[in-house]
Amino acid sequence: MTQKKPITIARGDGIGPQIMDAVLTILDKAGAQLEIHEIEIGEKMYEQGYSSGIKPEAWDTLRKTGVFLKAPITTPMGGGFKSLNVTVRKSMGLFANVRPCVAYAPYVKTHFPNMDMVVIRENEEDLYAGIEYRHTQDAYESMKLISRPGSERICRYAFEYARANGRKKVTCMVKDNIMKMSDGMFYKVFEEVAKDYPEIENDRWIIDIGAARIAARPEEFDVVVTLNLYGDIISDIAAEVTGSVGLGGSSNVGENCAMFEAIHGSAPRMAPDTANPSGLLLGALMMLNHIGQQPVAEKIHNAWLRTLEDGIHTKDIYRDDLSKKKVGTTEFAQAVVERLGQLPQTMKPVSYPSGEDTKIKMVPPKAAVPQTKALVGTDIYLDWKNGTPDQLAEKLLDVAEELKLTLITNRGVKVWPEGQPETFCSDHWRCRFLAEESGVSTIMPAQIIMLLARINGAGLDFIKAENLYRYNGEQGYSAGQGE
Ligand code: NAD
Repeated sequence: MTQKKPITIARGDGIGPQIMDAVLTILDKAGAQLEIHEIEIGEKMYEQGYSSGIKPEAWDTLRKTGVFLKAPITTPMGGGFKSLNVTVRKSMGLFANVRPCVAYAPYVKTHFPNMDMVVIRENEEDLYAGIEYRHTQDAYESMKLISRPGSERICRYAFEYARANGRKKVTCMVKDNIMKMSDGMFYKVFEEVAKDYPEIENDRWIIDIGAARIAARPEEFDVVVTLNLYGDIISDIAAEVTGSVGLGGSSNVGENCAMFEAIHGSAPRMAPDTANPSGLLLGALMMLNHIGQQPVAEKIHNAWLRTLEDGIHTKDIYRDDLSKKKVGTTEFAQAVVERLGQLPQTMKPVSYPSGEDTKIKMVPPKAAVPQTKALVGTDIYLDWKNGTPDQLAEKLLDVAEELKLTLITNRGVKVWPEGQPETFCSDHWRCRFLAEESGVSTIMPAQIIMLLARINGAGLDFIKAENLYRYNGEQGYSAGQGE
């Protein structure tokens, strides 16, 4: 008899408690060996003043068990509340979000009967760093932070996942034609990592056309790895085109902990006992696989497929022409329990192989080779409403002294020197100062401080300074659009 594995569960809000009950019943009847520790999260915790929706004590339970099966919660609207999901993912270092998106045709209606793809989304970085500012009356900033080790870790995880699951191809989706530095680095790392997996095909799509292709021809994709925001969007598209978001499960994996959930939210407006528990169930099966209880996962998965085949469907997937019986959450779970031990008859039975070569290896990112870093200039951002780019340049040339004003942009577009008269100018200006035109000679940090003092003295309102560096001689900042 397998030893009971301690796990943490949370029932969440809305449909959460119902689908969690259904899933726990199925796990129990199938013989999953679990020691369940329950924590409270969500609306009630937010109301009690815990801004992240979780009590501080709950972290100890999560840390001790290292495995979290979580039902969806309702995130309150309005300021002051932080997303619990983002907090848990980031606090526990759950860097990889894995979402298998599979079609169950003809039993669940979809245009893509052969679809079987997995989206692997970077979970900690990108715009989800949540670093935002209001710079001026008109302009706001959200910071997109991408690190090289973060990129290497997720790309490697995607290839390791592909290898462990017998997948043939990994596709990278980025927008490196525009974000040449952040997305460009992510793709470069992807290419480097891909070399270590010669048996796995790899390719790259620009995210916009890639997302369109997932919506139109998802059967062409196998494993897709991408940055946080793109992954958020394409994993929902991919789940939706399988036939229902109610069918998607996901895992969030880190080195020491993992969280398993449905991809959908708490659907607070759904009538009681009508929700489909399949998303959370499939999340729970990923959990059983993770904790080494593959035979139980396999038994449940096949019983679940058989239930779908038998036309026992919840409202979200019920179709008069395909379904035999419309059931609620509890009855659906009961139907799965009754089929434990049975295999699907027309869909392919699922197998959960165990053993060393099916384990996903966590390979730490390579140590960075130190590079030379040279400060060559600064971009000073100004809040300025009083005139034309030429007038602003005139004021700045007066205070530049030994530094060279080389460029002014407004919302990224060059407006000086030789801007286009048609360019709309907001109150948000970026002004580039370098040691000299080519930006190769270095400057001292004190020169930036003195420049800021002169800018302030000239009555100009600076918002921030962004230092410009070269790394091993290579420019570490982008050119202005139109430069
Ligand atoms: P949602 O996913 O909760 O619901 C959207 C619609 O999808 C529902 O109206 C319903 O028609 C359908 N649906 C979702 N789950 C279903 C299921 N199991 N069975 C059948 N149909 C299902 O999205 P929403 O309405 O945008 O969000 C509701 C709340 O959930 C919000 O507070 C949101 O912040 C939160 N949310 C939580 C999580 C999470 O905890 N992981 C994820 C997404 C959204």
